[in-house]
Amino acid sequence: MKEIFPGVFKDGKILYTINLTPGTRIYGEKLIKKDAEFREWAAQRSKLAAAIMKGLKTLPVKHAASVLYLGASTGTTVSHISDIAGKEGAVYAVEFSERVFRNLLDLAKQRRNIVPLLADARKPDEYPWVEKCDVLYCDIAQPDQTEIAMRNFDGFVEEGYLLLVVKSQSIDVVKEPKKVYEEEKKKLEESGFDVLELIDLEPYEEKHAMIVAKK
Ligand code: SAM
Repeated sequence: MKEIFPGVFKDGKILYTINLTPGTRIYGEKLIKKDAEFREWAAQRSKLAAAIMKGLKTLPVKHAASVLYLGASTGTTVSHISDIAGKEGAVYAVEFSERVFRNLLDLAKQRRNIVPLLADARKPDEYPWVEKCDVLYCDIAQPDQTEIAMRNFDGFVEEGYLLLVVKSQSIDVVKEPKKVYEEEKKKLEESGFDVLELIDLEPYEEKHAMIVAKK
């Protein structure tokens, strides 16, 4: 098992994080006990894991980092970010679907570094108490996802990193995905972001890319 980023491990083609709550599975993932308990992080289940498998160079999610996460869903990726950030870190997890939010609440009961927020990412005024964060992670599959991400970044990060999942089908169903990715990248650059990486997530996620940007 090799540590490829602080808190992220790789064994062959499989990624792991160290389980913050040993003995507990979040979504049926494999647990492996060595000197610590490792949780399998499947690239087929998490776009951040897919980006790492596709050669991501900059992982701004680190120990003690504070992360604003838009589109938390049931918390699959949130749980691995929670492992990496550790007890000194915080993951503010925004989700507007009540149905999946219930799972997120259960997850936050086990993991004290997750703050679940039932709110619309289009309305950052609904969560004004979120502290200044180091990283914004956005995976909301909306046509205006980049604009929503930028608004939240200006409100809660200002200077730091953006990890933006671009689902080309949510933006334009007929346009070539690569063209959509380039257009979203250009929007970020025109708003003062330095785009560090644009990673196509195929074959793990069809018609999705991850953009890593910094301001
Ligand atoms: N990031 C998750 C993961 O890796 O485990 C998967 C996210 S899923 C593709 C997109 C999620 O974003 C859905 O759960 C959806 O309800 C949520 N969502 C979409 N638009 C939203 C908005 N405006 N505000 C908050 N959540 C939103």
